[in-house]
Amino acid sequence: MRYTSTRNKNISLRGSQCILKGISEDGGLFVPEYFPQIDISELIDLDYRSLALFILGEFFPEIEKETLKMATNQAYDRKFSSNEIIKQENIMGVNFLQLYHGPTLAFKDMALSILPYLLNISKEIENIKEEIVILTATSGDTGNAALEGFASIKDTSIIVFFPEEGVSQVQKLQMISQEGDNTLVAGIKGNFDDAQNGVKYIFNDEDFKSKLKEDSYILSSANSINIGRLIPQIVYYIYSYGKMVKNDEIDLGEKINIVVPTGNFGNILAGYYARNMGLPINKLICASNDNNVLTEFLNTGQYNIKRELKLTSSPSMDILISSNLERLLFHLRNDDKLIRDKMGDLSTKRQYEMDNLNVKDFYANFANEDEISQAIKEVFEKENYLMDPHTAVAYCVYEKYKEESKDNSKTIIASTASPFKFGEKVASSIGINISNKNEFEILGELSERSGIDIPASIENLRGKKINHRNIIDKGNMANIIEDFLKEGDRND
Ligand SMILES: *Cc1c(COP(=O)(O)O)cnc(C)c1O
Repeated sequence: MRYTSTRNKNISLRGSQCILKGISEDGGLFVPEYFPQIDISELIDLDYRSLALFILGEFFPEIEKETLKMATNQAYDRKFSSNEIIKQENIMGVNFLQLYHGPTLAFKDMALSILPYLLNISKEIENIKEEIVILTATSGDTGNAALEGFASIKDTSIIVFFPEEGVSQVQKLQMISQEGDNTLVAGIKGNFDDAQNGVKYIFNDEDFKSKLKEDSYILSSANSINIGRLIPQIVYYIYSYGKMVKNDEIDLGEKINIVVPTGNFGNILAGYYARNMGLPINKLICASNDNNVLTEFLNTGQYNIKRELKLTSSPSMDILISSNLERLLFHLRNDDKLIRDKMGDLSTKRQYEMDNLNVKDFYANFANEDEISQAIKEVFEKENYLMDPHTAVAYCVYEKYKEESKDNSKTIIASTASPFKFGEKVASSIGINISNKNEFEILGELSERSGIDIPASIENLRGKKINHRNIIDKGNMANIIEDFLKEGDRND
């Protein structure tokens, strides 16, 4: 298995090289040169760890099986509150695939609990001696999950930039209370796209990188632009399909729909990869919030970001530039020059157009704030089931899809976060008065009303010391990185 770049097909690298680099030198993203084919009937009896071992082994054959096994066992262990790592609940005929039982209560833990291991193993394989600096832009959940995953890894530093105004209270608290002197967390005066663009810019700044290299540091990424983030996300789609077969919810081979609340297009792309590997999927349903660039694109072929980014109650989807879409376009067209042109247009003209975009495997729509509140309320009142706002976006869009298509294939909704991470929206939607209450008072009432305990990792945030108070202009990202790396003379 080798990987190429979406912007230069002459590139051919091992997965371990791609994991270390994060992004290709031409600005493109790494993609597998082919999709390994699976036989579901052979996989349905595997537990989560064994399935992860199998799938990762297909994509990273350069890693020895025993080493990989140690990684999957340590990544998917008791830091997940569910023995099965994920949970599935059938509510109103839909399968809610709960991907948020990891340490930071969002689906990002599914990949970010294993990425640090993949990175260290890759370092070994490629004989890299420098200290790795993980550089990450976050819309809230990646930062948190990456800090959790990397903070305890030796010889690695982790730097997280988040939009100061664009994350929930709990998300912010989780990040700024992070311990470990190998961590730097900074809020930026801007939105997620500013943070992500800043990070991409630094990745492509050869002068900056060679300066770092002289000080014995190399940069890598924990964002879903890193192929080491994407591949582990394939596992849970295959796993949950197998479970549904075992529970007699579907027949082996029966096609299902997967609905994914989408931001950077990573999670839904993992579903597309699973489909290309042979998982029987009917529609991949791309659900957006009011930042509905993807809805427009998948329906018209026009990608247009000449608009203001809106702050919504599903902040992890407040994104205009969905990086992983570039990978889908490459797989559809297999044309690196076309991708270079379109991505060039996106950065200079803030828009591009794809002719004959053949995306019939996808359905795309969006939900506004009222619809989200309404859905949270309705599902809670009918089923006593709490959805977080991201999951609620997916639920609304699925309702629209059903209405339009009359398709009644069995359907999975990727449930990406715990409702307790987004207390204000969830509580107010089910009729709790939130005015003049602090975050923990709101969560307390939410817990009482729903009969669900506040998750321990949120409880633990109460009164935790704030370790990170930086708020910077978006032009100062490179400076703060340099200062941080110099500060402790970390490599002396
Ligand atoms: C990151 C995130 C998303 C969006 O996932 P992408 O892979 O970026 O499309 C949706 N919901 C939650 C809770 C998230 O943290």
